[in-house]
This record gives sequence, structure tokens and C-alpha cells, in this order.
Amino acid sequence: MKKRRIAVLGSTGSIGMNTLRVIARHPDHFEVAALTACNSVRAIERQIRACKPKYVALAREHILPLEKKFPGVRFFDVADGLEELVVQKDIDVVVIAMTGAAALAPFLAAARAGKIIAPANKEALVMAGDILMASAQRHGAKVIPVDSEQSAIFQCLEGRQSRDLYKVHLTASGGALRNVPASRHDRFSVKEVLSHPRWKMGAKITVDSATLMNKGFEVIEAQRLFDLGSEMVHVVIHPEAIIHSMVEFCDGSILAQLSVTDMRLPIQYALGYPGRLPAPVGRLDFVRLGKLTFARPDVTAFPLLALAFEVARAGGVLPAVLNAADEVAVGAFLQGGIKFTGIHRIVAATVHAHRGLPSCRKPGLKDIEMADAWARVKATEIMERIR
Ligand code: MG
Repeated sequence: MKKRRIAVLGSTGSIGMNTLRVIARHPDHFEVAALTACNSVRAIERQIRACKPKYVALAREHILPLEKKFPGVRFFDVADGLEELVVQKDIDVVVIAMTGAAALAPFLAAARAGKIIAPANKEALVMAGDILMASAQRHGAKVIPVDSEQSAIFQCLEGRQSRDLYKVHLTASGGALRNVPASRHDRFSVKEVLSHPRWKMGAKITVDSATLMNKGFEVIEAQRLFDLGSEMVHVVIHPEAIIHSMVEFCDGSILAQLSVTDMRLPIQYALGYPGRLPAPVGRLDFVRLGKLTFARPDVTAFPLLALAFEVARAGGVLPAVLNAADEVAVGAFLQGGIKFTGIHRIVAATVHAHRGLPSCRKPGLKDIEMADAWARVKATEIMERIR
């Protein structure tokens, strides 16, 4: 395999750092071409020294001092320079490890430039998955998901006929509040919610895992990535997080992807696709594991999952509204402004308020951006009322 030159967008976050670990383990296969962050100057400085990228993006105010320290590096403003960065000719793979809607523009630019795109970010796919996937297809870009569930589905589907597909079983570890009765949810502090049992991740996605909103986003993400009807995607709680998802065919056969719970696995698979490289982590021991368990998700205790299914069925700009409202609500929760149950109240009220507005089935990027902006204002209004 020719050495792949990799841009890591969001290199100082949890997925970004794991990506750099995978790259460092396979210097014959991968090298870092670009690193980006917003304000984590110290961390990215260390990464620049270690990885020697050609390109770096940061918030504008941090660029000047770093330009002096690293004269060989070309710097971009992270606020509006990522589209220009990702299309550079000496970048092969774009890992989208940054969070939030800001990933949409560089994702689209990378698709148009025919890059290999490894998205860990779900917001872009939730908001504008149809547009991104159509653009990737038109320009010969390959999208290899990093999110563990989507990577599992991708691996199980590889080489199969989509007409033989019956449904997809998306597994969910259940989040920090899995065993907590719904009546006690509003007493949960930020700290308790952030102690996630299975995956170590950033704050936003850990809260989304606790509300099951993250799983709801993954339902929409799977729909977009694999061109599935919303009725084909099912969620099953699997606390051990060993099966990362399953694909069921029309004949009743089910393929599952299993591995130890470590993000370096799906990251390495995406970077090396279609080849496979030696295991980056320990191997699975079935006997030590003993058993795997499953349960039905409790949509009464976690109403955001039910809401996500509704939104997945409705389509149009509603997924963008859901995503934006959740970003506002989770931000408020993390700052201590609202209770845990306030997240659902804000998101549901915003989605329902949008239902009254005229909407289109096949929105363009402009429609999606407008819906996103509308939802942020609306969710903030609702939040101020309830707090
Ligand atoms: Mg996931």
C-alpha cells in the first residue's frame, strides 16, 4: 500500500489523539499531513513537534505566535480555512474528528475533491447526509465511517447486495444512566452523567450517550451512510459493547462485527481500508467474557431516542433541527444551566415548533443551514424560559 497522507481535523480531541496513535504505530503505511484544533494551543504544539505536519489550522488569534515557531508549516484559520486545507493535493485521507456542525463544510469540500473521508463526526451526516453522500459518489470520494457502529455495519455489508438486506441492528451500550429509573434522571449532575461505563469520549457525546440521543443520531447516520429506510434500522441495548452492530439479511442470516471496545480499531480500519493491519489493541477472549446480553431500549425513560426515530421518518431539514437543538441543550446542561431532563424538553419543543413551519423533502444546503440557525435561536429561547 502506498503511504497514506492523513489530515486529522480535531486532532486534540479523543478520536483525534487515538488517530495519531494509530498513525504512529504504522509509520510505513501512514503519515500526518495536517492537524487542526480550535484553542488547544499547547496540545497542538506538542503534536506539531511530534508529527511534523505540512498544514495546521487553529483559531486566528493563536496562529501568529506559532507561525514564528514553525516556519515550515502552512497555517489556516480554523473558522473558514478548513475547506481550503482538506483539498490540498498531498492529502489522501481526511479524518473528521471534530465535533459539531462546523464539520459540514470541510466534509463537503473533501467529498468534492474525491478524498478518502473517515468521519467520526455525526453532526454533518445527520444534518446533510444525503447531500454529502451524493457528492462523494459523484466525485469518487470514499466514505469509511469511524463511528464504531457504522464501521461495524460497513464491514458487515462489504461486498453484499443491498437488496438482500433485511435490517440493521444498531447496538447501544446504554449510557451512564442505563440502570437509573427515569424518575431520578433530573437529579443527575454533569459529573455523574460524564462517568460513561464503556467508551471514554468527549463531554458532548457522553451526554448524548446518556440521553440515548447519540444512538438516535446514529440511526439517522446509518440511514444516510448506507441508504436505508428508517424502518430498517433497529436499536438493541448491549451493555458489554462487544458487538458493535449487526446486519440481518433476507434469509435470516446475521453478520456481526465484534472486537474489544477501543476506538483505535475502527480508526485503523478506516485508515487502512480495504487492507487490514495487525491489531492495535488486545484480542477478544470469549471464555473470559462468558456472555453477551441484550435488552430493548426504554424509550419512555429515554424519549430522545423515540424523537430521533420520528425525525428519521420525517427527514427533510428536521434532522438538522434536532441536531442544532441538542447542541444548544447539551451545552446548557454542561454549563449547569438546566437539569438533565431539560435537554429533552428543549429538543422536543424545538422539533415540534418546527413542525408547524413549511418544509421541503429534498432540502439543499442553504435550507439546512437556515433550519440549523433557526433551531439554535428557538432552542435558546425555550431554554431561557425553562431555566
Ligand atoms: Mg457510536
